[in-house]
Amino acid sequence: MDEMIAPGIELDAMLRSMNNGVVAINNENQIIFYNQVFLTLLGRPAENIKLQPFYEIIRNEIIFDAIDIVRQKGCDGIKEGEWRDKAIRATATPLVGKREILGVLVIVEDITQLKKLESVRSDFVSNVTHELKTPLTSIRGFVETLKNGAIADEAVARRFLDIIDIETERLYFLIQDILTLSEIESGTDYEVIACNVGKAAREVTDLLEGSKEGVTLIYEPVPYIRPYYCNPTRIKELLINLLDNAMKYTEEGKVRLICQEDGDDLLICVEDTGIGMEKEQLPRIFERFYRIDKSRSRKQGGTGLGLSIVKHIVELYNGRIKVESQVGKGSRFEIRLPY
Ligand code: ADP
Repeated sequence: MDEMIAPGIELDAMLRSMNNGVVAINNENQIIFYNQVFLTLLGRPAENIKLQPFYEIIRNEIIFDAIDIVRQKGCDGIKEGEWRDKAIRATATPLVGKREILGVLVIVEDITQLKKLESVRSDFVSNVTHELKTPLTSIRGFVETLKNGAIADEAVARRFLDIIDIETERLYFLIQDILTLSEIESGTDYEVIACNVGKAAREVTDLLEGSKEGVTLIYEPVPYIRPYYCNPTRIKELLINLLDNAMKYTEEGKVRLICQEDGDDLLICVEDTGIGMEKEQLPRIFERFYRIDKSRSRKQGGTGLGLSIVKHIVELYNGRIKVESQVGKGSRFEIRLPY
């Protein structure tokens, strides 16, 4: 046994350096070594538990189950589960000596973050499926009705084709937005060039100007903006999404874009005099597929992903985003991207 505990300094250093909890027990179920992370993960104080009876001081079914697999089947045992407010994974392995099995080694990992990501991902997949299904169901329904005779009535046929056209466009935009999000998220957005933000703002406002009756788009370019090192496509996507929202959610009034340097930041503000939002809604609007008024967003051709894309772009450039809004008065999105 001593032979195993002996290489003291190296073993201690190795155990201390590990991010995961480690504990080893001998065949008499005494703890032969462990590290501090193990104690922390199990919510225990920093105490000396060497040579203590394992099953008397540790109460964790996940770890017990993993050890049972090793003892009963002789192979590695992996178990995951909830432990207090955490999700943990215990991986137990036979501790092999020169000729005999000396006990069991257990690695305990905190997988809370991993589980959260998995659940975000699976929620996203089910949301996407639902969002894709809605326009597809509508398209199929109208195609079916046309095939069943409606095609003979030209006026009706034209109306149905228009609806199919709108739904197809909706699908196209949705897929575009999903692709944009996954491109930004994949972290492979290496393109960084000196971007003329003033020019990008001009191009975007030219594109949107006059696109909605009753809404005036105001952009007064400042004489000079220091080039901002980024992927110009991302800056344009950010501007388009914010301006498009401002115009969508303003029946009649003004939308103003401000783009300028402010100290060490590139400052982008989009203000509108539109419908505004309740204060309680503000923390949620950057979530994927979150819409305050579902039918209004759909009617306006919204995908529910615009602000999520904006948030991802801001994070990509280590920026900050602030929203102020008042129902019936309008909204103001302020973005600061550090140079
Ligand atoms: P959508 O495609 O539905 O516009 P977004 O992610 O761009 O999705 O925005 C999420 C929700 O936030 C919108 O559905 C809308 O309810 C609200 N919203 C975003 N921008 C504004 C704005 N300028 N004025 C009022 N509401 C807004």
